[in-house]
Amino acid sequence: MYIIYDGFYLKHDTGHGHPENSGRLSSIMKALGNFKYRKNLKFKSPFEADNEMLNLVHDSKYIKNIEKLSAQGGFHQIDPDTVVSEDTFRSAKLASGGCLKGIDLLFSERDPIFFAIIRPPGHHAFSDHGSGFCIFNNISLAAKYAMEKYNIKKIAIIDFDVHHGNGTQSIFYKSSEVFYISIHQYPLYPGSGWYDEKGKSQGSGFNLNIPVVPGSGENDYFIAFIEIIFPLITNYDPELILVSAGYDAHRDDPLASINLTEDSYYKIMSIIMYMSIAGTQNNPGKKRVKTGIILEGGYNHKATALSVLSTITACMEAERLASNRATVGLNKLIDDFPISRVLAGNRDIFEIIKRNAKI
Ligand SMILES: [Zn+2]
Repeated sequence: MYIIYDGFYLKHDTGHGHPENSGRLSSIMKALGNFKYRKNLKFKSPFEADNEMLNLVHDSKYIKNIEKLSAQGGFHQIDPDTVVSEDTFRSAKLASGGCLKGIDLLFSERDPIFFAIIRPPGHHAFSDHGSGFCIFNNISLAAKYAMEKYNIKKIAIIDFDVHHGNGTQSIFYKSSEVFYISIHQYPLYPGSGWYDEKGKSQGSGFNLNIPVVPGSGENDYFIAFIEIIFPLITNYDPELILVSAGYDAHRDDPLASINLTEDSYYKIMSIIMYMSIAGTQNNPGKKRVKTGIILEGGYNHKATALSVLSTITACMEAERLASNRATVGLNKLIDDFPISRVLAGNRDIFEIIKRNAKI
C-alpha cells in the first residue's frame, strides 16, 4: 500500500484557530511512526498538478485567481470558511498531484491501494470556486485523470466524510462514468445531499445520497453500507474505487454529531475492501478493483489519526486474506455484528433509497 505525503502540506496556513490546520496531518504522520503495519507501507512523494491537469476539473480563471491570491501573501477568504495564503497554491497543487501520483502508482506498479494523506481537502471544491476548506477537488481530479490517462470507464466514489461532498456531486452530476455515493449527516453544512438528488441526463441514477440524522452511529452506517452501498457498487461493477475519507463522523469530532469510533472506520473500510476483492474470488477471470483513499475532513486530531490507522489496518488485513486466497470476511463481519437497530429517523429514508434503487 502506498502512502502519499509531503511535508509542504503543513505550510498551507489557514490562520489562528482554524479547524483545518497542519496539526491534523502531523498527528497522522506521528501515529504512523510506530504503527504495527509501518513496514508494509511504501511512502511516496507527490508531484505538483500542473495547469493542464487542474483543467481536467477546474476553470482556468479560478486556478489563476488562487495563484494570484497566494502570490500576494497575507490571508484571503474565498468564502467564509476557506482561506488562501502564501503557500496555499503550491500545497493545493501538491494535494491534487498526490492523488494523481496515486493513480499512476495503481496503474503502473504492483500494489492495488494508495492512501493520499493531503491537505487542503477537496470535496467541497467546485469547478469554478472553492468552499468549505477546499481549494481543488482532489478526488474528482483523480477520477478524471484515471479516465483520460488509463482509459478507465467506470469509477465509484464512496464519500464517508460527515459532510455532503457537494463539489464532487456537481462535477459528475451529469456523468454515468462516475457513480458518486455519499453518506453524511443531514442537516449539516453545506445543506445539500438529500436523497432525491439523483443525477441528471446521462448521470441520472449515478448519484446517491444517504443522509443520516444527527446522533446516528455505527449501526446506521453499517446497515447503509451492507444493505445499500454494497449491492449498488457490486451491481455497478466499477474498474476503480475512490474513497473520500473524512473522519469527522467520529464521535469526538467538534464539527458534527455522528457517533462513529475508530473501530467503525475499520469496519467500513473492510466492507469497501470486500467490494474491491470479492469479485475476483467469485470470478477468477475478473481483475482486482484498484482502490484510492483520499483524505478529506477530520478535526479532532487524535480521533483522526487513530481512524486513519484503523482504515489502513482494514486494508492490510483484507490484503493478507486475499493473498492467502482466503475468503475476505464480510460474512464474518456481518455475523459478528450485533443485531442492529437503525435509528427511527433513518429507517424511512433507507427504505425509500432501497425502493428507488430497486435493491
Ligand atoms: Zn467534512
